[in-house]
Amino acid sequence: MSTTIDTKNPYNGDALKSYPLDSENAIQKKLDTAEATFKSWKTYDIEDRIDLLKNLADTLHQSKNRLSTLMTQEMGKPILESKAEIEKCIFLIDFYVKNSDQFLQDDLIETDAKESFISYDPLGCILAVMPWNFPFWQVMRFAIPTLTAGNVALLKHASNVTGCAVAIEKLFLEAGFPEGCFQTLITDHQTVESLLANPITKAVSLTGSEKAGRKIAELAGKNLKPSLLELGGNNACIVLEDADLDKHIETMVKARMQNAGQSCIAAKRFIVVDRIYDKFLEKFTAQVKTLTSGDPMDEDTTLSCLAREDLAETLKEQIEKSVALGAQVAYGNQNDGAFYQPTILTEVTPEMPVFKEETFGPVAAIIKVKTEDEAYEMASNSEFGLGTMVFTADHEAAIDRISDIEDGGFFINEMVKSDPRLPFGGTKISGYGRELSKEGMLAFVNTKTVYIN
Ligand code: NAP
Repeated sequence: MSTTIDTKNPYNGDALKSYPLDSENAIQKKLDTAEATFKSWKTYDIEDRIDLLKNLADTLHQSKNRLSTLMTQEMGKPILESKAEIEKCIFLIDFYVKNSDQFLQDDLIETDAKESFISYDPLGCILAVMPWNFPFWQVMRFAIPTLTAGNVALLKHASNVTGCAVAIEKLFLEAGFPEGCFQTLITDHQTVESLLANPITKAVSLTGSEKAGRKIAELAGKNLKPSLLELGGNNACIVLEDADLDKHIETMVKARMQNAGQSCIAAKRFIVVDRIYDKFLEKFTAQVKTLTSGDPMDEDTTLSCLAREDLAETLKEQIEKSVALGAQVAYGNQNDGAFYQPTILTEVTPEMPVFKEETFGPVAAIIKVKTEDEAYEMASNSEFGLGTMVFTADHEAAIDRISDIEDGGFFINEMVKSDPRLPFGGTKISGYGRELSKEGMLAFVNTKTVYIN
């Protein structure tokens, strides 16, 4: 068994750094530190926690170039997207600077009591298991509301972004957060099992695959600990006859190709009514051709390599199996190591892997349907439930469909995206629980009923 985590640059294969795994003792020490810190951190005034958030935003701002470079080196994201990710984290922090006090206020409720209200108390040490695709954003969207509510956090990040994980812990310390508020563990899957069994750990938040979700939910259930799961997605993008393609085609391509298609909320299935199909395909293909492949450190690059070579292999298999079932390659499909050319598949049907499974790379599956009703039915034909988007000029008709959509999000004339001001999460096998907004802040609190007579 390896005693280190070794990171490498997926673009050029260069070895980056070797990180020794934390020993059992080191992990227990971090748990003990977390527990000790929680006792004092939960007594901090909200204003003091908010001051630290402001410091953190400044620290992120000052370190933006260095952190973006690290992210790009570890997982291949184009450098401009890495910088945008850091900026989004700062926006998230600003949102909680402005709103946390109000979100955490007691809620007075009139009853027969002299006074009754709900108070929101932190739970303690929360474990976060996080993915590599947005190495800073995923961690921050968990950590900022969770810590500000008075909890402390332990992070087990995806192994290929261990440098980012270490950098995030340092950021919190540099911003002045007490030692033990946010700690990174350098560890493997087995340790997660013992962490969930440890009484110091009070709950777990996972962002990752369905497979990891099933495992973490099982462990959380076994230990009767709350869990929040943000898992995979297979979002449909419905394109109706009256969609304004000139206005929205760039958004539709971005919805699929951003981060080389490695996003849970990417548009993975394009469901297009036949009256607009030819025009859509022509414009979509033309827009895909404008993407610039290359070195992710180059600011002109808009689509780079995948984060690991095995991800390209999995994608290739999904495409090959779909082609064997009748899908047509309308564009792309060249692959070299971790590089996958943006690919458009047509004639896609529901029994194909590119329809049924999550594709984590730059492949757009295009499905032709006859009617609007068929488009919505096809969109809902998925085990996943993160989000659906529809492009149409008829807002009213789209609004009438809100209750037909079982997903965590429904976006009209916009790509599915996360925004700190709105809750984010899925249904079905995309997981449960909500992050961001007030819901995200209350994800790991004890909603306590207080009754005074
Ligand atoms: P992953 O393989 O499930 O890994 C996610 C995290 O879970 C990593 O830290 C991984 O550690 C850990 N992990 C995996 N299996 C585990 C197990 N059995 N026990 C303990 N820990 C385990 O997913 P990924 O490849 O990093 O990320 C891509 C997936 O995340 C996609 O399915 C994507 O849709 C989903 N995602 C969802 C959202 C959302 O908000 N819903 C956002 C982003 C990504 P190692 O790295 O050490 O394996």
